[in-house]
Amino acid sequence: MRRMRRTRKQKPFIPTIDTEAWLADNPGVMIECPGQPGKLRLTKEACARRHMAANEPRWAKIGAEPFHIFVFKMNLVPCRECEIGAQNAKELNLEAEAEAA
Ligand code: SF4
Repeated sequence: MRRMRRTRKQKPFIPTIDTEAWLADNPGVMIECPGQPGKLRLTKEACARRHMAANEPRWAKIGAEPFHIFVFKMNLVPCRECEIGAQNAKELNLEAEAEAA
């Protein structure tokens, strides 16, 4: 005998975060990147991690294959010499050292 399959009505996920209120409560967390296209807004920590990833020695060995990794590498090129990223990475490392102590 075949069982009838019941479908559960699932409510669609709708985030209830008021981004404008969050930004007002957390000033200075987000920055606007001058190096990436489209007025990219990201957290200072994300910026610092991009800078650190861009300066990892292993990126020098990556060629044109695999292509998706190559695209990611090229996306990090503006972050390599970026002074904003260097400052954020320094602050992030200082925070990590303070938490470890
Ligand atoms: S390191 Fe510089 S270019 Fe890269 S995301 Fe941060 S601000 Fe933008």
